[in-house]
Amino acid sequence: MNMVMSPREEVIETSMEADWSRVLERLRVEFDDSIYNSWFKPLDLVNIEDGCAVMAAPTRFMRNWLESNYSDRIRVAWKSENSSVSDISFVVLSSFSEASAQKNDHKDGGDIIPQKTGRSSLKDNTLAEGNNKLKSRTITIKESEFGAPLDPRFTFDSFVVGKSNELAYAAARRVAENKDVHFNPLFLHSGVGLGKTHLMHAIAWANKEIFPNRRVVYLSAEQFMYQFVSSIRYKDTMSFKQKFRSVDLLMIDDLQFIANKQSTQEEFFHTFNALIDHRRQVVISADRSPTDMEGIEERIRSRLGWGLVADIHPTEYELRLGILQQKANKIPEVDISLQVLEFLARMITSNVRELEGALNRMIAHATLIGRPITLDMTQEVLQDLLRANVRRVSIDEIQRRVADYFNIRLSDLLSARRARQVARPRQVAMYLAKRLTAKSLPDIGRNFGGRDHTTVMHAVKRIDELRLVDSLLDEDIIHLERIFGT
Ligand code: ADP
Ligand code: MG
Repeated sequence: MNMVMSPREEVIETSMEADWSRVLERLRVEFDDSIYNSWFKPLDLVNIEDGCAVMAAPTRFMRNWLESNYSDRIRVAWKSENSSVSDISFVVLSSFSEASAQKNDHKDGGDIIPQKTGRSSLKDNTLAEGNNKLKSRTITIKESEFGAPLDPRFTFDSFVVGKSNELAYAAARRVAENKDVHFNPLFLHSGVGLGKTHLMHAIAWANKEIFPNRRVVYLSAEQFMYQFVSSIRYKDTMSFKQKFRSVDLLMIDDLQFIANKQSTQEEFFHTFNALIDHRRQVVISADRSPTDMEGIEERIRSRLGWGLVADIHPTEYELRLGILQQKANKIPEVDISLQVLEFLARMITSNVRELEGALNRMIAHATLIGRPITLDMTQEVLQDLLRANVRRVSIDEIQRRVADYFNIRLSDLLSARRARQVARPRQVAMYLAKRLTAKSLPDIGRNFGGRDHTTVMHAVKRIDELRLVDSLLDEDIIHLERIFGT
């Protein structure tokens, strides 16, 4: 919906657009086609405010790249076309919808997928709302200078602590709250989607709040590399070095990205050493421990392990449920029963990102159909996710865990002994093997000391019956199933 514009507004609008076309034209002449098409053509002009030309890029990645590599050239082009423009800034186009997405928390953890709406839509009412948002974003971008912007949702408050992440959390808090360096570097590692980036942003937010004058810089190893490469290209490595050596707290995310990238590693190592020598705090994350980092030079690996190495383990059931409850509580208008949350926590075990994704899908669904979410509905809506999350449990593992759980020897579990204290756990193990693996009854029988498939069938039936009347046994099984993350 276009607003009605006064003739004067129309003139300003048009001349702004005309300036923008000429700026683009300049850039087109100045750069190769491939650069122009990849980086400048997708840009949209949003507005000119107080002498600052605000342009929108379709993704965060592009915005960051433009900022670190082309902002000077774009600024020059603007100044030559419109002398009242003294500065430029970039926003991510979809950040207009970010405010509302945030409110509903519908977004999954990843980068925003751009909704490219075209220039005309930027003039309608949504822009009026978007404009306020835009100002605050512009400020964040300027503040962070060469670091990446911080996600406002990633704070210590919103981080749910459990057994699997308590060490990493405590270390992160220590780093954020202390001026003195206790362990340097802090090295966080875990598989994907378990909260490394969240913790790093939380450190930055908290540290800025407690020590407003400290220079805190967060960026990914990938961005570090791009900035380094472009500083070489523009023969500006001195200022690259200076800016990185002047920070009080440097955080580099996903360090594994620079594996096998020799010169970036070299530069990273120098920066890293310089900071540590000056007792500035460094925080690094990666998808594995320093010793396991392939493609990273030995001397760097060993130095990375000098401080505190904290890993985040796969989530446990309680943590998953806690995270879901926290998220669900933020959206009181959507009714999701505890039963559904428990189901999700039991079934989606891969990582927190997928867990959030599943919950968001259920929330979206509930909002659309306007009814409370039932368990059946959840199973139907999440079919694909649930299938992908079926963990591959081996019969071996089931036998070992069950023997442990009931405090009997594995050899007894597999033996021919019929004493009840081994026969019942054996039946439980068979029952679980049937429920948690895709193995056939004869297969399972073979794995239990060469028993017949009818024995397995009998065990499954027996345990099913007993669960109904023996609540202790029922609890044992619920507990064991949790151990297997199902
Ligand atoms: P990583 O960097 O390890 O791949 P992220 O930090 O991006 O993982 O986390 C993925 C998503 O899961 C984010 O949305 C994050 O907020 C959420 N998340 C991860 N761990 C927790 C936690 N303990 N409490 C709350 N949210 C979490
Ligand atoms: Mg991450």
